Amino acid sequence: MFRLSGEPGISTKADEKLKKHRLIRSFRLRIFLIIMAVGLISLAIMRHSLLYDGSRVTVDNMTSEMLGRMRILSDRISEGAFSDESKSNIIRSDMQTIGDIYESRIVVTDSDLRVVYDSYGTAVGEFLGAKAALNCLRHGNPVSFPAAGESVQLAVPVKVTDAENHSQVGGVIFAHLSTEGVSILAEEKGRRSSIIFLLMGVFLTAFAVFVSVLLVRPFERITKEIRQVASFEDEDFVESGYMETEEIAEAFNEMKSRMKMLDDSRKEFVGNVSHELKTPMASIKVLADSINMQQGAPIEMYQDFMHDISDEIDRENKIISDLLALVNMDKGASALNIENKDVNIMLEGIIKRLGPLAKKNEVDIVFESVRQVNADVDEMKLGSAFMNLIENGIKYNKRPGVVRVKLDADHRFFTVEISDTGIGIPEEERLHIFERFYRVDKSHSREIGGTGLGLSIARRTILLHKGTIKVESIVDEGTVFTVRIPVVYIADESTSNKKKNNGRRKA
Ligand code: ADP
Repeated sequence: MFRLSGEPGISTKADEKLKKHRLIRSFRLRIFLIIMAVGLISLAIMRHSLLYDGSRVTVDNMTSEMLGRMRILSDRISEGAFSDESKSNIIRSDMQTIGDIYESRIVVTDSDLRVVYDSYGTAVGEFLGAKAALNCLRHGNPVSFPAAGESVQLAVPVKVTDAENHSQVGGVIFAHLSTEGVSILAEEKGRRSSIIFLLMGVFLTAFAVFVSVLLVRPFERITKEIRQVASFEDEDFVESGYMETEEIAEAFNEMKSRMKMLDDSRKEFVGNVSHELKTPMASIKVLADSINMQQGAPIEMYQDFMHDISDEIDRENKIISDLLALVNMDKGASALNIENKDVNIMLEGIIKRLGPLAKKNEVDIVFESVRQVNADVDEMKLGSAFMNLIENGIKYNKRPGVVRVKLDADHRFFTVEISDTGIGIPEEERLHIFERFYRVDKSHSREIGGTGLGLSIARRTILLHKGTIKVESIVDEGTVFTVRIPVVYIADESTSNKKKNNGRRKA
């Protein structure tokens, strides 16, 4: 059995995987996890320092207090507290009291570790084998060891002076300090703190959920707004939740207006193209219909109409090939095929090809080359651009008229100046002549076979060559187009990379 993944209401394994993947990558989940991680780590550190560090500090304090008291006892024994009977009872009762307070057994031994006093009273006369006592006797220093169970062994040396006034270890005061009370207290504290920490954990989770939902809300709003945009005409929206969301909204609105401009120009272009393509078709239809309607029309009339139909087909062809050239130009600089060419020869060839048209229009073409120019150009495309400019000079000229083509260059640029003695272009039209399908005098232009695409293609070609085109004109006196192009073509990085990649792909 199989399912269609697009079937509504049925989620496939792939859909679920995608959902899971989206959840893992979600910003909200990350905020939640960060808050939880920081909160839980802080709670754990707090709990640890409260419980374990707290009980360790208590044991350390108890140990050092006990050692202090044992030192005092040791000093009193050294001063002969045991030998004097009245003092002996006092010190024994003090040791009993200290033992009771600290819940510990206090033992005093001689230098052979034989017990001479035991606060429990059971080990007197026996030998003390505790590690702390042995160490203390050997090194003559106070010693404390953690011992089995919840306890600490403490030993302090009792110093005596011999007949020659030398100080030596004459015995040990040993204590077995029970820390069980501290542990029981810590356990109780641990139980109570577990409940508190559990409650804090619940609170932390609720807080993390709340904050993560709240922080992501402006981003959700902006996504919703963007999804609701149905057309480029819609009003701009503002999302002022954060500076970042405000910037996203601004960037989106900017993109929307750019897209609107593109959409408008696309619509205009499609409208113009349809109109331009329809016009010759309509003429052909009218011509064909009128022949069909005239039964037994003379052959001359047929020939005349067929001639007109052929002209209209040529016009349709010209529009289509101009459109294709324009589309090709839109591919950018990668559409160019740059080679080092002799510009003089290129221009001479174009002028030669335009000879018959010039003759028909009674226009003289004068070519003036100031110097020999070799430059990096796409001969085909740039040649078409110059051809269009010179052809316009012929088409929009007076009879008789002149078109002058002047070629000059410096070490960086070559300049081609095409001037005519024609009808000129009014100032207010000059800005528009490079627009697609724009014609100053529509009926005149149509009469002489213009499509309104030539200058737009020429300008695009010149710009792709990193050049400039400028127009000066006086109505009824003439027009001058000046084209300036770098002699050496330096490709943009992106263009050269694209070409390289294409080359590799082809290989
Ligand atoms: P077209 O195919 O109509 O010649 P172009 O894009 O080449 O289209 O030119 C656009 C318009 O600019 C022309 O229709 C014409 O009105 C005007 N134009 C171009 N060149 C000249 C010129 N040398 N003298 C006068 N008008 C010109």
